[in-house]
Amino acid sequence: MSNRVLIVTGGSRGIGAATSELAAQRGYAVLVNYVGNSAAAEALCAKIHNAGGTALSIQADVSQEADIDRIFEAADRMGRLAGLVNNAGVVDVAARVEDFDFDRLTRMFSINTLGTILCSGRAVRRLSTRHGGQGGSIVNVTSAAAKLGSPGTYVDYAASKGAIDTFTVGMALEVAAEGIRVNGVCPGIIDTDIHASGGDPGRAARMARDLPMGRTGTALEVAQAIVWLMSDEASYTTGSVINVAGGRGIFP
Ligand code: NAP
Repeated sequence: MSNRVLIVTGGSRGIGAATSELAAQRGYAVLVNYVGNSAAAEALCAKIHNAGGTALSIQADVSQEADIDRIFEAADRMGRLAGLVNNAGVVDVAARVEDFDFDRLTRMFSINTLGTILCSGRAVRRLSTRHGGQGGSIVNVTSAAAKLGSPGTYVDYAASKGAIDTFTVGMALEVAAEGIRVNGVCPGIIDTDIHASGGDPGRAARMARDLPMGRTGTALEVAQAIVWLMSDEASYTTGSVINVAGGRGIFP
């Protein structure tokens, strides 16, 4: 049993994997959530174990409330929850607003927005001093898209993340006196598989030279901000959303 259990939703690939690995290096027992790619999750957990860390994987879809309960029940079996990283998120193929349908929007908002809010509620029940907990930290992964709006690409994705920015501020204030810090990390264009899953594998490389720093970011660069926000070094930081975007989106 650990007294520093960390749940990372979508923790098996991309930004989540980098976060899981770095958090394990910092002594967290990491519960690595994934939805479909069990091979990636198992490979990551093996890598963490081989480096002397602790990690377990759990298949669960954060858009399904029963699955969210299974994530938290698994975390309870690992020990005392210290924190939650709401990282699981999806994009979709580029489309204009007049071409969105209910199924697309339901998927997008169920995973990116409702999943984050429902997972946070489960974490608050365990962490809040109001419920007998010992406090902890929650980090939400939002996007520069929330500020830029992503016109012509996926304004629905941008809106699903804009909701997370607002939620981060509201929840931070709601639980500030209950030992829980709530913050966000706002990545720019990060070189992960998410662009391929949105039907555009070359997106990050194509955009790189037009970005303020002339390059995309790495998953590790985002993970470092997430793990700092989780840590006691950020003990007076709550309600903040840190841009890890190489300057993208700071002047929307
Ligand atoms: P990624 O490489 O596509 O990885 C996505 C991860 O989320 C995978 O572990 C995947 O599991 C998991 N996942 C997807 N749907 C899920 C669901 N319904 N339930 C549980 N897990 C689910 O993505 P990424 O680029 O690292 O993005 C991570 C976060 O950063 C997302 O919230 C994204 O919106 C945000 N972000 C990314 C960028 C970027 O440029 N990459 C920029 C801004 C914000 P499987 O492996 O099982 O599929």
